[in-house]
Amino acid sequence: MPKIQILPEELINQIAAGEVVERPASVAKELVENSLDAGATGIEIEIRDGGRKLIRVVDNGCGMNREDVQLAFSRHATSKISSLADLHQIYSLGFRGEALPSIASVSRVELVTKTADEAAGTVLKIEAGQISLIKDSPANTGTSISVSDLFYSTPARRKFLKSQVTETRHIIGLVTNFALAFPEVSYRLTSESREIFHLKQSENLKAKIAELFGSEVVSKLIEFRQAESILQIYGFLGKPELSKSSRSDIRFFVNQRSINSRTLLHALTSAYGEMLTKGRFPLAILFLKIPPQLVDVNVHPQKLEVRFQDERGVHDLLFRTVKKALDREFQSAVKKSVKSPVTYQSPGLSGSAVREEGPQYRTGLPVQPLLLKEIFSTPQKDSSPVKKELSGPALERANFYQLFNTYILTQTDDELMIVDQHAAHERVLYEEIWQSISFEKKISTQRLLFPETVQLDPREYDFLESNQPLLERVGFEVRSLSGRTVIVSAVPAITRQGSAKLFKEVLEQFIGLEEDGQDKTSAIASALACRAAVKSGDSLSGPEMQALLQSLLSLKTPQVCPHGRPTLIRIPISELERRFGRS
Ligand code: ADP
Ligand code: MG
Repeated sequence: MPKIQILPEELINQIAAGEVVERPASVAKELVENSLDAGATGIEIEIRDGGRKLIRVVDNGCGMNREDVQLAFSRHATSKISSLADLHQIYSLGFRGEALPSIASVSRVELVTKTADEAAGTVLKIEAGQISLIKDSPANTGTSISVSDLFYSTPARRKFLKSQVTETRHIIGLVTNFALAFPEVSYRLTSESREIFHLKQSENLKAKIAELFGSEVVSKLIEFRQAESILQIYGFLGKPELSKSSRSDIRFFVNQRSINSRTLLHALTSAYGEMLTKGRFPLAILFLKIPPQLVDVNVHPQKLEVRFQDERGVHDLLFRTVKKALDREFQSAVKKSVKSPVTYQSPGLSGSAVREEGPQYRTGLPVQPLLLKEIFSTPQKDSSPVKKELSGPALERANFYQLFNTYILTQTDDELMIVDQHAAHERVLYEEIWQSISFEKKISTQRLLFPETVQLDPREYDFLESNQPLLERVGFEVRSLSGRTVIVSAVPAITRQGSAKLFKEVLEQFIGLEEDGQDKTSAIASALACRAAVKSGDSLSGPEMQALLQSLLSLKTPQVCPHGRPTLIRIPISELERRFGRS
């Protein structure tokens, strides 16, 4: 006895069914495809128990004669191709000739069919893959096929089916796709005798989408069409607000076949790019028409995938097409907002260049005035001009805005100025302290209400002893108590909240800078300025900001802080104009 044997026909069909018939929706898919291939203009789909109990598809297509009906359930029997050449240019949805025998091997099938030129139709029953009844039957032209008790003979497969709701949802999604791909056909879908939808024949895709997804969705779609010589792409793109965290609203059709494609998905999501945040997917209904020779549809048993001869080329064309459509849409939105009669209000920027010329965006997304309001957390109306002789570059009609409690924003005649509040204040204080020390002016002190004791380490104590006069000149009053404990009774008035802690911090920084080789005057001025200056995070009032900028701009070299960091950045109007595409 040989070990190898040819499997019985029924088992072969059941094995094929494992690939072709995954769930009720895959049965419905094969049946509706057959109806469309038969030239039907009306298709009714009836399901019970999510398609597990019953899937019935009734069409008004060409029907089958007695001879063909019997062949239809044989393996590899098809009327759609007859040669390898045909396989290379498929115009039908079916071509493998394995759907009907596969389905019949895992369910009970009853079929009634009649061609236009026959007087009587045929009724046929198949159970466990075998024809159990075949006889004449009155019938309309077309085919009605009922698939009952799916997987009754293969309980293991039946267990994998999801809930009725889930299977029903899959079938609704399936018929929706057919309705979009073949809008010239009418569809009626019922579940448990309840009508889910009844879509009339209409090539008006927008109306069809409105019927399927609601008019709300239609108002947020961008319609586009691109005809490159051999490849046509058209369809609808959802505006970003329609995005979802799943891909369920992305539908690709290649030559009217609904397919999944990583290539197309990548092109689509890349074209949306940063319009969508990570993990969000757009709504998109995309149709590609390509000569059948340039696409292989025979790569998946359920025909859910295709392979393009030039994957890269298709990818790039789709990417460019979608991107262009999105860009066009959002640029026209910008134009609309410019024409809009609503006056543009720039909060706080009275008399500025922005207000005078009004918004004239040429590219990119419209700028929302609201955004400016949010950025300018503390707009100040105070606009008293800064005296020219004091301020260097004129701060005419200046207003001051504090950003992130860290930067001060203002304008001069012809530039935007952004100031780092801490670096600027540090620079101003450094100059003041250095001048006072150099010209032996006393810096005003501030007595502490409660003198505080501070514990110093040996190095600090040693440093204090040799530099006490300098520290007193800048405003500290410090006395030795016992050992290395000192008592601090006054601090420089420039420190806004004087405390003994500040003394220790200044002393530490002073030591560090002196050890780095700075002369004592610069070192103490730097240390004190750094500790006394406003910090990033401190909220400043309008007058405070104005005073700070006046002081800063009156310095000879206001641009850098004592550590060499910039205190301010100037952006000329010409630069802004260049970047906004105005010049
Ligand atoms: P395929 O669709 O790949 O040819 P199927 O097993 O789905 O294979 O169908 C086998 C054949 O049965 C088809 O080629 C077609 O000739 C015929 N057929 C199936 N369904 C219908 C139908 N609804 N109307 C007319 N002919 C049909
Ligand atoms: Mg078929």
